[in-house]
Order: sequence, then C-alpha cells, then structure tokens
Amino acid sequence: MRILLVEDERGVANFVKKGLEEEHYTVDHEVNGLEALNYFATNQYDLIILDIMLPAMNGIEICKKIRADGIQTPVMMLTARESVGDKVQALDSGADDYLTKPFSFDEFLARVRALLRRKKDSISELAWADLRLDVLAHKAFVADKEVILSPKEYAILQYLLRNKGRIVSRTQILENVWGYDYNPSTNVVDVHIKTLREKLGHTLSPEVIRSVRGVGYTIDVEDA
Ligand code: CA
Repeated sequence: MRILLVEDERGVANFVKKGLEEEHYTVDHEVNGLEALNYFATNQYDLIILDIMLPAMNGIEICKKIRADGIQTPVMMLTARESVGDKVQALDSGADDYLTKPFSFDEFLARVRALLRRKKDSISELAWADLRLDVLAHKAFVADKEVILSPKEYAILQYLLRNKGRIVSRTQILENVWGYDYNPSTNVVDVHIKTLREKLGHTLSPEVIRSVRGVGYTIDVEDA
C-alpha cells in the first residue's frame, strides 16, 4: 500500500511516516502543497494524508483539486485546530475523514485501515498457489503457515502479486516500495528478492518470483 503524506510540520511528519513504515506501508512525503500536486498526477496512491495549513497551497485546495481531477483515492485531513469550520470545509472539499492534532497513533492507524477497507477497488487478499497475503494485516502465509517477512520484503511481494502476469522493473519496485528516497544505483531490490525467495522457497515450488533478464521480476499467472 502506497501513501502520500503532505505535512510541513517536521515532528508530525516524521512520527506519521516512521509509524506507517513500521506497519509496512510505503510513504512518499512532501511538505509543499503545490509540489504535492505532481505526486498524485504521476503516481497511484492508496491513501492521501493532507495537512490543512501548508506552504504554497493548503490542504483544502489540494483536496478540491484531487476530486476535480476525478481521483477517487481516499483522503484524510490533519488539522491543528479544534474548529468546526475546518472540519466542515475538509469534508466539503472531498476528504473522507479528518483527525485533529495532536492525535494518538493507534487512532490514526485505525482510521487509515478503515479508509483502506472502504476503498472501492481494494483487495483484502492476494494469493498465488499456496501463498496468501492478508493485505489489511500485512501478513504472508504459505499453506496457512505464517512466513515472517520484513516490511520491505512484504511490500515487494505485495507489489509483485498485485501486478501478477506483468513484468515489473527494479525502478518500479524502488518507486513503489521505497518511495522517492532511494539511491538509483542501489542493488537493494535484488538483495530483498533473494531473501524473499529464501523465506518462501522452503515451502513453495516452483520459484514464485521469476527473474526476467535485463528487465526485472515477475510473478506468473498460475496455470488454470
Ligand atoms: Ca501545517
């Protein structure tokens, strides 16, 4: 699951980003409201989290723009003020939910999960032969036995399964799993694929993740 976080308060942003990443979400973070428009124009997000008071363009305007562009991605607004007017404006601009700062991370996460569940095209389970991912719990199972994966390993596997039958490049994996904070010359994808295969390989055969020389990786559609 890939989340865009637009928040200019460093403390809040770090707290939210770190917490979401620990829960296996991929987070792109931007502080400038106007810059944020480029993110959802070029990427598909499962959730957008918007602060209201932002440099260049505020969260209400961003949300209106998102909806005017026909983007149905769930939006959660963060507001520093306990003001009824802000909440009304947030919801009227097309936000699905809002949270007043300061908030507890547990409540925030519960609301994130609720928004992702409500998402129209959301898939709660991904499967390939004996392999099954519980997308909401972020857990992987092989033959109903849980396989303990690191957050990045889990995110790669989910991304590959969502794109089953398609070849995905290392760059696509980096953008979707690491967000924009990656070093382009890194071999981190290959390293994670190797450990993923080792963890899954004990029980799954043939090899679920196939290398496509010079292109990337794929999970083939199962034989009918
Ligand atoms: Ca702010």
